Amino acid sequence: MSIPKVAGAYWTNNAEGELLIEEMTISLLAARYGTPFFIYDRDVLEQKYLALRHALPGRFSISYSVKANPNPAFLRYFLEKGCGLEIASAGEFHLARNVGCPPEKIIFAGPGKTEAELKLVIAQGIGEIHAESALEIERISAISRKANRPTRVALRVNPNEEGQGGAMLMGGKSAPFGVDEEQMDPLILRIARDPHLEFWGIHLFTGTQILDHNLLLDQYRKALEIGRHAAALVPAPLQTLDFGGGLGIPYFPDDSELDLRQLDAGLKGLVDSIREDCFENTNFMVEPGRFLVGEAGLYVTRITDIKTSRGKKYLILDGGMNHHLAASGNLGQVIKRNFPMAILNKLDARETETVDVVGPLCTPLDTLGRSVRFPAAEVGDLVGIFQSGAYARTASPLGFLSHASPPEVWVEGSCDFLIRRRGNLEDYMQDIHPVGAAL
Ligand SMILES: *Cc1c(COP(=O)(O)O)cnc(C)c1O
Repeated sequence: MSIPKVAGAYWTNNAEGELLIEEMTISLLAARYGTPFFIYDRDVLEQKYLALRHALPGRFSISYSVKANPNPAFLRYFLEKGCGLEIASAGEFHLARNVGCPPEKIIFAGPGKTEAELKLVIAQGIGEIHAESALEIERISAISRKANRPTRVALRVNPNEEGQGGAMLMGGKSAPFGVDEEQMDPLILRIARDPHLEFWGIHLFTGTQILDHNLLLDQYRKALEIGRHAAALVPAPLQTLDFGGGLGIPYFPDDSELDLRQLDAGLKGLVDSIREDCFENTNFMVEPGRFLVGEAGLYVTRITDIKTSRGKKYLILDGGMNHHLAASGNLGQVIKRNFPMAILNKLDARETETVDVVGPLCTPLDTLGRSVRFPAAEVGDLVGIFQSGAYARTASPLGFLSHASPPEVWVEGSCDFLIRRRGNLEDYMQDIHPVGAAL
């Protein structure tokens, strides 16, 4: 057994075959914090951030997509790097403000923004709102007029051409996100002519988990084309052009990493080919989530029971899909494939068994690994799931079966910090109102 190949660049083990997080063994950390828990290595985050920063031409800015991992430690990290934050709810707005993000560095996207959410961000100030529908533009206008405060509005556009080959593509077909390219012209003019709104730019975000740089570059080219069209329509230079997120990370043995060198070269070519004045001072922006944080996180569980049923051996863990829905294959995956996983205290042992790895929930959905090759496992061993920094804890049904929610630990050099406590089981009781009692 060794560290799964897709995660191998970032993690190491000691001579006894135990995973090391910086200089600390995983069993030391598991004893300190209890299992199950999430652990994040700042050094991995730093490698990913710097790799992306160097692959983007200087005029590109980065806004971190908060929903990938909203823990304040991540938000602080990206703020310190000079990034902005991309949010999609009032809750994420509060998180951003609480870590000291200035309102002008926040962009607010996402369908179905409520009146209350729009009022909140307009009253407190916001960098840009990315409008996702005609009605939303009306709402932003009315609220801005009442607040006597013009709001910068970019239009999120659902492009009419579909790139090929990416997972979960959202462009070229019907979508609840943004407005169709065919319908955008009157809406751009509507925003531009409103004294309470400032037409600020164009936003495209059409797919997530894209590992093919050509596909990303096609979308960036498409964004430039739409941006050029919008600027000519208004007519005025474009303030921002948001190319979206969607940069992928490898999860499965046949995934190859996004080729940042090719992306870099392609982007340089794209930027150098720009001749139009309308882009002269445009802030080119990307808003990745997964790429920046996905590989920095590990979900650590302990084996509570081992049993065999009709010839199949099961390792039963103390956490499962309730903490990590994506790893169970139930977060929108069409084909369920195993996330990279390992017995973290047996990384030098030979793989001798084929097992199913399951969580503690009473549902067959709670399967994290199917037919996994593992060394002989024992109760008490630590099973880790790699690539668990993005859309893991935050995208999971934490209340399902009322287990305690898992804590989060941040490792920075030789120091480890608890950055979110384990959920308290008594919290479940406080949510419950006695039947028959007056509210
Ligand atoms: C989720 C989201 C992102 C981040 O997507 P990744 O695939 O994690 O990079 C960016 N922009 C918007 C509008 C989103 O909803």
